[in-house]
Amino acid sequence: MEEVEAFISETLKAYTAMTLGVEKPPDWGWTSQWRIYYSPRERKIYIHELLKEAWKLDPELTKRFLKYALAHEFAHYVQHVRGVSVLEVVKVPIIEFPMLSEYLARKKATMLSGITRVEADALETEVLELLARHGYLIP
Ligand SMILES: [Zn+2]
Repeated sequence: MEEVEAFISETLKAYTAMTLGVEKPPDWGWTSQWRIYYSPRERKIYIHELLKEAWKLDPELTKRFLKYALAHEFAHYVQHVRGVSVLEVVKVPIIEFPMLSEYLARKKATMLSGITRVEADALETEVLELLARHGYLIP
């Protein structure tokens, strides 16, 4: 297993251990789609494969970016498998309400990773600029 893959698996394991009511970490895999997302149908987190290249170019930056991004997608996994704890009164599958599920995923991502959304946005820009500088992105 590559270093980046070990990091992703370990991070998801750690977030699982920090979360009540979730017994096992979500599956994850690489995708060629330009995004990081959670698939409820497969119960799986997908990560764009260029992050592997970013890791080779700047492991510390990529690690920090992934730490937050994984926490965010992990939050969607929790919303899906455990359901809602915040709005128990309402009893709705929160993942079906994008605005609310995004809001809650951002809050949980910061709680799990210790990284604010402001920093996460800056990290994302840095990762994109790193890839662009090395010819991976066409402006
Ligand atoms: Zn989200």
